[in-house]
Amino acid sequence: MSLLVFMEIGKEVELKNFSRLQIGGPARDLVRADTVDELIDAAKTARELRMPIFILGGGTNILWSDNGYDGLVLMPFLTFMEIDDTRVTAGSGVEMANLVGSTVSRGLAGLEWAGGLPGTVGGAIYGNAGAFGGEIKDSLLEVVSLDLDSFKLKHRLAGECKFGYRTSVFKSERLNEVILHAIFKLTHGNKLYLSRKMDSAINYRKATHPLEYPNIGSIFKNVAVSGIDRNLAKLYENAVKTDPFPLIPAAYLIDKAGMKGARVGGALVSPKQPNFIVNVENASARDVLRLIDMVTEKVYINCGVRLEKEVRIMA
Ligand SMILES: Cc1cc2nc3c(=O)[nH]c(=O)nc-3n(C[C@H](O)[C@H](O)[C@H](O)COP(=O)(O)OP(=O)(O)OC[C@H]3O[C@@H](n4cnc5c(N)ncnc54)[C@H](O)[C@@H]3O)c2cc1C
Repeated sequence: MSLLVFMEIGKEVELKNFSRLQIGGPARDLVRADTVDELIDAAKTARELRMPIFILGGGTNILWSDNGYDGLVLMPFLTFMEIDDTRVTAGSGVEMANLVGSTVSRGLAGLEWAGGLPGTVGGAIYGNAGAFGGEIKDSLLEVVSLDLDSFKLKHRLAGECKFGYRTSVFKSERLNEVILHAIFKLTHGNKLYLSRKMDSAINYRKATHPLEYPNIGSIFKNVAVSGIDRNLAKLYENAVKTDPFPLIPAAYLIDKAGMKGARVGGALVSPKQPNFIVNVENASARDVLRLIDMVTEKVYINCGVRLEKEVRIMA
């Protein structure tokens, strides 16, 4: 029996269709909830059936297992957006491209750095997505989530979300919560200037990312200069970029370790952007994991730096 037929996409749905890397076996059940009530119903039913629940946004930062997921994949498809002067409320299922485009076209400043950032508002908050000197936390006022144990709403001001480099309280404390919506505080700006900034971010991504192949963005976090040995930091000082603080790009280290273009099965370390692993030919999650391990090891041996994963690994 299906969980809740009216909003369900299905049982045994292939998760490769729900990851930008196009890898992943079947989910026991997958529900797309269009309202908070539907979300609560699906989560409560899963709890009664003792099924684990995984919250999925746009699938742009996730590696599923070849064996799939033995539980409920729950997609909060909450796509409302309300713009009241500089205050913007967006459901967690809103695509970042939609949020950025809608605010920039009204001359609202604060999210233009996110031009071309894939994924949803929920996913961006979960991982405190950032690029070109901006981070999602910078323009956030409040996040509202649903606790999947008590089924109570939680309101957190941005300052209470423990945001850090590619992390938040939802990620670092593995909270059993679904982000429902967020309130952003933007400022009035020049529409033309903001559009140019958004477009230049989009164009930069098109020129430098291997978008022609399935991928899930940067596999590894860039390396904080403050977190490594002073001699190593000196060795790599010419590669350091400040975004949002002094970092050594993981791509630089992967290249230096000779791993650009390394391949396992159908998975390839992109020669165009070595921090991306692309699916060039029916790659499996096993191929990707093996390649991630190889890159981690080679970078450690050749560069003395231990890379940390940025993507969510469910394999
Ligand atoms: C081509 C490309 C370029 C990218 N560039 C960048 C970049 O410049 N900067 C950057 O930071 N990232 C980048 N990414 C990674 C990715 O786009 C971001 O991490 C994005 O914010 C993930 O959003 P998502 O909705 O796809 O999340 P998903 O991949 O669906 O999920 C990611 C994590 O968020 C959790 N999550 C999602 N929605 C919710 C919710 N509503 N409530 C609770 N938890 C939730 C999931 O459980 C999962 O753990 C890039 C990815 C690609 C493919």
